[in-house]
Amino acid sequence: MSDPAGPTALPDSRYDIAIVGAGIVGLATALRLQADGGLRVVVVEAEPGPARHQTGHNSGVIHSGLYYAPGSAKAVGCVEGRRRLLDFCDRNEIRYELCGKLVIATSDDELPRLDELERRGRANGLRGLQRLPGERIAEFEPHAVGLAALHVPETGIVDYTQVAHAYARRFQELGGELRLGTRVVGVRRRSGSTVVETDAGTVEARSLINCAGLQSDRVARLAGARPRLRIVPFRGDYFDLAANRRPLLRGLIYPVPDPRFPFLGVHLTRRIDGSVEAGPNAVLALHRHGYAGELGLRDAASALLYPGTWVLGLKYWRIAASEFLRAGSPERFARALARFVPEITAADLEPGGCGIRAQALSHGGRLLDDFAIERSPGALHVLNAPSPAATASLAIAERIVERAHDELGLLTPGVQPRRAG
Ligand SMILES: Cc1cc2nc3c(=O)[nH]c(=O)nc-3n(C[C@H](O)[C@H](O)[C@H](O)COP(=O)(O)OP(=O)(O)OC[C@H]3O[C@@H](n4cnc5c(N)ncnc54)[C@H](O)[C@@H]3O)c2cc1C
Repeated sequence: MSDPAGPTALPDSRYDIAIVGAGIVGLATALRLQADGGLRVVVVEAEPGPARHQTGHNSGVIHSGLYYAPGSAKAVGCVEGRRRLLDFCDRNEIRYELCGKLVIATSDDELPRLDELERRGRANGLRGLQRLPGERIAEFEPHAVGLAALHVPETGIVDYTQVAHAYARRFQELGGELRLGTRVVGVRRRSGSTVVETDAGTVEARSLINCAGLQSDRVARLAGARPRLRIVPFRGDYFDLAANRRPLLRGLIYPVPDPRFPFLGVHLTRRIDGSVEAGPNAVLALHRHGYAGELGLRDAASALLYPGTWVLGLKYWRIAASEFLRAGSPERFARALARFVPEITAADLEPGGCGIRAQALSHGGRLLDDFAIERSPGALHVLNAPSPAATASLAIAERIVERAHDELGLLTPGVQPRRAG
């Protein structure tokens, strides 16, 4: 894809910016751009409504910023995004609860990792963090046990589908256009303008921002980018705790994560509607939208013919096998949970939902940990926005807009953002 005339050559294009994807990242970006005023922004979404993929299939946790390497985009984005998210929820009457969480170490080898989490949490500016000896765990979670724990009072819960719908509503109230049921199938550059071909006609804009989540690598390639990574889908299954067992949990309980993986381990999560979920595990999926376990030939080939998948699989086959065996097995799930809540048995678990994570994987088998945004002529591509991207969505949107300003020459210098909410 060539860009002979430069990104600002056609000021009379119908839109200034076309955003692909009405997940929480695309909508936060759209809202932030629209709130600046003076820009014509359109969001193009394949599904009939917003938040139908990762945003609508997650754990609903407002992360505090505990886990992430100090100074990383994830750490900064999570802390800043959390603050902005709570402010948005307050101003838009979206219910959330700062119920706090415990990260519990259940074996000696987890204790140094708990130390490291505490160090990271303090470096990331978390407030009220408390290290607890095993005997104090019951003060916070009467049914939990462990050798030691970290109590993180700033962690909370919210319904991200509701948040995404509120972003969409606000964006439209400010004059933005949301085109649902419109799948992007091609992108061309023509005389400094971007022509977005969809299954429902053509959209023309000066620039494109790709927030297509599980399809973001493909949309990037459609737009002429050559990302040196691939989105590999990782399925996460949940079980629901039977209604009469919900009192076993006050807030959230997490294990100490394995630092080699970007996933946090099977945890117990109270949801804002009062239900309690256990999960998610992490298993390679053979369909990027295969919520019922379908096989997608294109997606399966994309994952299985990619060298990075094999390098990763060979390196971590033991963990991969155990995650696979745990999928769909209440007994194995219950055993993992009983390490910190011994009263939980398989009989307490009912089949729940599932989510599919868009995880960027390098050719050499490295799981990309941090948020990643790449550029191609006239376009920015959000190529890795894993957890805590829902928490961090409004902060990620800030970074995207800064880059759109600097790299796409899109915004008027000196424009000060209006409040998005
Ligand atoms: C199981 C699970 C648990 C998680 N738990 C948490 C949590 O507790 N807290 C947290 O902060 N984060 C969590 N996350 C991460 C968070 O949900 C995601 O990082 C976030 O939702 C990503 O948003 P997104 O907008 O990038 O992607 P998505 O929500 O996937 O949106 C992408 C959108 O692009 C659209 N699209 C794709 N291709 C096209 C196309 N060609 N044309 C038009 N539209 C297209 C899709 O239909 C979709 O609507 C979790 C994720 C998963 C999967």
